[in-house]
Amino acid sequence: MKQGIHPEYKLTKVTCACGNTFETGSTVENLRVDICSECHPFFTGKQKMVSAGGRIDRFKKKYNLK
Ligand SMILES: [Zn+2]
Repeated sequence: MKQGIHPEYKLTKVTCACGNTFETGSTVENLRVDICSECHPFFTGKQKMVSAGGRIDRFKKKYNLK
């Protein structure tokens, strides 16, 4: 690998909007992210709950429930 082309790569503290923090390699010292592996639906399975809620909403509409 050639030297001097890439910015310095260092350990970065990443703070997520959910409050989770973790460290990763990056060229900046601190990062803020909106979503991480701790709160992303793909990892938490919350997406399934959301779609289940949608099914219940459709059920209520169909039978005129509130
Ligand atoms: Zn998060």
